[in-house]
Amino acid sequence: MNFDLDKLLRANIRNLKPYSSARSEFRGTASVFLDANENSYGSPLTKWYNRYPDPLQWDLKKKIAGIKSVDAEKILLGNGSDECIDLLIRAFCDPQKDRIIICPPTYGMYEVYANINDVPVTEVPLLPDFQLNLEGIEGAIDEHTKLIFLCSPNNPTGNSLDREDIEVVLNNFEGIVVVDEAYINYSRYRSFVSELADYPNLVVMQTFSKAWGLAALRLGMTFASPQIIRVLNTIKPPYNINAATQELALKALDNLEDVNEMIRETVKERGILVKALADLPFVQTVYPSDANFVLVKMQNATAVYEYLKTKGIIVRNRSTVALCEDSLRITVGTDVQDRQLITALQQYNG
Ligand SMILES: *Cc1c(COP(=O)(O)O)cnc(C)c1O
Repeated sequence: MNFDLDKLLRANIRNLKPYSSARSEFRGTASVFLDANENSYGSPLTKWYNRYPDPLQWDLKKKIAGIKSVDAEKILLGNGSDECIDLLIRAFCDPQKDRIIICPPTYGMYEVYANINDVPVTEVPLLPDFQLNLEGIEGAIDEHTKLIFLCSPNNPTGNSLDREDIEVVLNNFEGIVVVDEAYINYSRYRSFVSELADYPNLVVMQTFSKAWGLAALRLGMTFASPQIIRVLNTIKPPYNINAATQELALKALDNLEDVNEMIRETVKERGILVKALADLPFVQTVYPSDANFVLVKMQNATAVYEYLKTKGIIVRNRSTVALCEDSLRITVGTDVQDRQLITALQQYNG
C-alpha cells in the first residue's frame, strides 16, 4: 500500500499558510498580556473567560492521551465529531472532483458535510447482515476517492463492523479510512486507536456526546498520525474549543470510574430492553447492538412511532431508510424510562 499524504491533500490546503493567532505566536509566561485585544478589565462572569483559550487544548489533550494510551500529538479536538467530519472533507476533497464513500444505512452527517462542500458521495450499501460489502467498496474506489467513512458500532443499526473487514479496507485503500467510534464504549470490541501505528491512512473519531454524557458541550476527538493532525490543525478555526468546554471536560476526565459505571449500567439495561422488546407480539427483529440504542423491526413501525408520541415517548423512526424498513431506533433509557416505554408498548394494539 502506497500512502502519500501530500498527494492526497488538496493543493490549496497543502500550501496553506495558517492564521497565526496571538495565543499561538506567544506561548511563554508573562505578566501583562496586551496582544489579543481581549478585555483587560475582566467579564461579567469570572475573570478567566476574558482571555482566549488555548487553541491546541494541550492540557485536555494530555489528559485524554493518558486515558487512551495515545500521544497527544495524535489528537485533534473538534466542536463535536461533526466538526472533525467537516475538517476531513475540506482537507482532502476538492469540490466537484474528489469523492467520499459511505456505507448506508449509516450516520447522516458524512453525506451532509459532503453535500455542503459540494463533494460527490458514492454509496456502497451494507449487506443485509449490516456488514461491509468489500467487493462493492473495491469496485467503487476510483482515482478521485479520498475518504471512506466506516461507522462501528454503526448508527442506526447498532452492530460493530467485522474487524477483519475494516482491516481489509485499511490495507487496500490508498486514501483515508475514517472509523467513527462514537459508540465504542458500549461495544465488546476494542478501539482502532491502538492500530494507529500500523496504518498511516487510519483516522479514528470518538466523542464526548455519548458515553461521557456531555453532548451539550460539543466535544469530539479525532485520532490519527501527527502528520494528518498537523494538517487538520492548520484548517480548524483557531479557537474551536471554548474555554468552558476545555475546563469542564478536564473535570469530567477525573471521573473515569463514574463514566465506566454508567457504561456498565447502560449495557445491562440494554440487555433488559432487548429482551422485553423481543417479547412483544408485533416485534419481528431486535437487532444485536454494541451501542446505547437498539434497532427494532416490527409490524407497521410508523403507527407504533405515532402511538408512542401520544404517550409522550419519542423514538427515532428509521422506516424510510433502506435496509431499515419498518424499524425504530430506540435509545437505551434509564430503567424507569425503559419500563415506561415497555408498558406503553405492551398496551399497544394496532
Ligand atoms: C452521535 C454520533 C456522533 C457524535 O457527534 P458529535 O458531533 O460529537 O455530537 C458521531 N458519529 C456518530 C455515528 C454518532 O451517532
